[in-house]
Amino acid sequence: MSLIDLMSMAKPNLESRDKILVMLRDRTLVNCFQCMKCTSGCTALKLLELKPHEIEKLVNLGFVDELVSSDIIWTCVTCLKCIQRCPQKASPYHVIMALRNLAVEREAKVPEAYMKIVSQILESGLIEGIQKVTTRKMETFDRESLELPKIVHPKESFQTAFLKALEER
Ligand code: SF4
Ligand code: SF4
Repeated sequence: MSLIDLMSMAKPNLESRDKILVMLRDRTLVNCFQCMKCTSGCTALKLLELKPHEIEKLVNLGFVDELVSSDIIWTCVTCLKCIQRCPQKASPYHVIMALRNLAVEREAKVPEAYMKIVSQILESGLIEGIQKVTTRKMETFDRESLELPKIVHPKESFQTAFLKALEER
């Protein structure tokens, strides 16, 4: 469902907005003056149905529930450029992360790709699976053929600590 569909006749929810403000701690979302510096440098702009400064505005107005249920918040590539560009310490990155955390808390649908990353980290300790490389001559090599050291799989203590950290967030 697109955000426009979700937003039709929507009413602001100030309780959800307050929750986001608490999650943002010292990030002063309310000081955003819509200068659009975040949007003009956003790496994921083409992916976003809503631009970062518009997300700021919607959260400020209390339209949090609609964003939490939308796929839009999962399209940010977490490049952190908006933190650097924001003159008001109100970066959309932190707002989007707070929206994602609220989405997980509410058991909203998390994109499959994220769940795959979590399993991958648990299994191998790496975000990406171990891949073969293909040269320009279309020759394929794996780590073994390149005499690279074996990847050591994480110990159970790592998995326990990782799951605990996820729960604490
Ligand atoms: S979040 Fe920061 S950079 Fe973006 S519109 Fe607001 S004040 Fe400007
Ligand atoms: S962190 Fe997300 S919102 Fe901020 S500039 Fe990067 S992609 Fe855009």
